[in-house]
Amino acid sequence: MTELAEAPAAGREGAITRIPHWIGGQRVNGTSGRSGPVFNPALGVQTSAVDLASVEEIDAAVKEAAAAFPAWRAMSLARRAELFFRIRELFHAHREDLAKLLTAEHGKVLSDAMGEVARGLEVIEFACGVPTLVKGDFSEQASTGVDVYSIRQPLGVVAGITPFNFPAMVPMWMWAPALACGNCFILKPSEKDPSASLLTAELLKEAGVPDGVFNVVHGDKVAVDALLEHPGIAAISFVGSTPIARYIYETGTKHGKRVQALGGAKNHMIVLPDADIDMAADAAVSAGYGSAGERCMAVSVLVAVGDVADPLVEAIKQRLPKVKVGDGMQPDSEMGPLVTREHRDKVASYIASGSDQGAKIVADGRETAPDGDGFFLGVSLLDNVTTEMDAYRDEIFGPVLSVVRAASYDEAIGLVNDNPYGNGVALFTRDGGVARQFQFDVAAGMVGINVPIPVPVAYYSFGGWKASLFGDSHAYGPESIHFYTRGKVVTSRWPDPSTSKVDLGFPQTR
Ligand code: NAD
Repeated sequence: MTELAEAPAAGREGAITRIPHWIGGQRVNGTSGRSGPVFNPALGVQTSAVDLASVEEIDAAVKEAAAAFPAWRAMSLARRAELFFRIRELFHAHREDLAKLLTAEHGKVLSDAMGEVARGLEVIEFACGVPTLVKGDFSEQASTGVDVYSIRQPLGVVAGITPFNFPAMVPMWMWAPALACGNCFILKPSEKDPSASLLTAELLKEAGVPDGVFNVVHGDKVAVDALLEHPGIAAISFVGSTPIARYIYETGTKHGKRVQALGGAKNHMIVLPDADIDMAADAAVSAGYGSAGERCMAVSVLVAVGDVADPLVEAIKQRLPKVKVGDGMQPDSEMGPLVTREHRDKVASYIASGSDQGAKIVADGRETAPDGDGFFLGVSLLDNVTTEMDAYRDEIFGPVLSVVRAASYDEAIGLVNDNPYGNGVALFTRDGGVARQFQFDVAAGMVGINVPIPVPVAYYSFGGWKASLFGDSHAYGPESIHFYTRGKVVTSRWPDPSTSKVDLGFPQTR
C-alpha cells in the first residue's frame, strides 16, 4: 500500500499521481484507503498509486450502470451506430496518447503500443456495424395468420476484468461489443497499468456516451469478488491467467452469471524440414520476443522437426544480438522491459532452471539486459528443452524461447495436442497438404499457417481451447454479439377477429 499524494501531480518529477475510479461519468477518488503502486518499468520507479475499490464502491458503480441502462438500451440502433462512428474517430485521433500511456506503465515499445491500439480500433469498427449484427430472423405464416420472429436484447450491466499485457486492446474487445449491443459496462482493469482505462472513459464521454454507461473500478481480489457476487451484474468477461480464469468461471457461474474467461497459453510453433528457414527464424524472433514475450499469443515453444533444428537454431542465434532492448519511448528500441521487477526475476529463473534441468543456453538474457533500474531482461534462447522441464511446462510470459527437437510431424503435433493449453499454434511448411491436415488435427483455437501470431481479425472471434478458455464464447467478433445479448422469440397472431375462439389444446402449427 502506498501513501497517496493529496492531488494529482502528473508531470512533477518524483511525485506520485493518484489514479481514481470512473463512476457515473466522472473521476471518483477511492474511499477504501487502499491503493496499489504503478511503475514505469523502463525506469524502475513508481509513478502512480491506483485506488483499490471496496465492496461498497463496486456497488456504487453497479447502481450507476443500472440507472443508465433503460435509456441506453432504448437508444435507436441508428443513433448507437452513429455514436460508435464518433467513438472510432476519437480513439483514432488519440491513438498516440493511449499508446504513450501503455508504454509508460506496461513498458512495451511505442510502435508495439500503437499496434495494440490499432488492433483494438478494429473491434470498435466492427461494433459500428451493430444494426446488422443484432438482426433477428422472421418467419411469415409459421401457422395460419401466425408470424414468428427472433430478437436479441442486451443483458443489462456487464463487467470486464482484464490483464496487464493489453491494457487498451483487451478492454476494447469487451466494452465495444457490449456497449454496441446496449449493455452498460464496468471495467476492472489490471492494477499494474490502469491509466489507459481512464483515458478510454474520458474519450467515451467526449464522444457522447451517457454517464453511467461505462464505468471503471480499479482493484484487486476484493473488487473482483464483489463483481463476481453482485446480483446486479448479468455477465462477466475475463482475460488473464489460467488459475484466475478458472476461478472467475466457477465463481461467476455459481452466482448465476454468464461467464467467458480466457486464460493463459503455451503456444507452439512447429517448423517442418521443408520450411523456409529464414522466414521461420524471422517469425520466431518476432513472435517469441515481441512485447518481451508478454503476449498470450507469443510463441513460447519452437518445435524443430528433423534436421531443420541445427540450421534453425543457428539462424535465430544470428538474429538475437540485433534485437535492441531499451526504454520503449526511445524510437530505436525493439523490446522493452518486463512489467514488474518480480515478474522479471521470475522469468529469469527459467533460464537457470532450464540449464539445471539439462537445456542448453544458446542466448542468455541475464547477460544482455541494459544497465539501470528498469525491469529489463535480454532475449534468451534455450535449446534441447524437453517436456519435463519447468521452462516447457510453465507459461513463462517473458522473452525466453524454448526449442524442442522432434523426430517427426506426428511427434510435433502430439506435443501440441497433449499440452494443457490450446490458445494459438503455428506451422511453418511449404507443403499445403500437410498444412491442411494440421488445421484438421490440431487441438487449439487459433491456427497460423506460416503466420506466427494468428490473432483473428475483428470480424472473426478470438479464443483458445482447453485451459486457455473457460466458457463457451470466444471474445469479439460474432461470438461477442451472442455473448452480450440474449435471444427472445416472438410468436404473433393478427387473426381475423371473426375466427377468434378459445382453444385449450397445446399450440399446433399445422
Ligand atoms: P492475472 O490473471 O494475474 O490478472 C488478470 C486480472 O485478474 C487482473 O485484473 C487482476 O487484478 C485480476 N486478479 C489477479 N489475481 C486475482 C485473484 N486472486 N482473484 C481475483 N482476481 C484476480 O493475469 P495478468 O498477469 O494480468 O496477465 C497475464 C496473463 O493473462 C497470462 O497468463 C496471459 O496468457 C493471459 N492472457 C490471456 C489472453 C487470452 O486471450 N487468452 C490475453 C491476454 C493475456
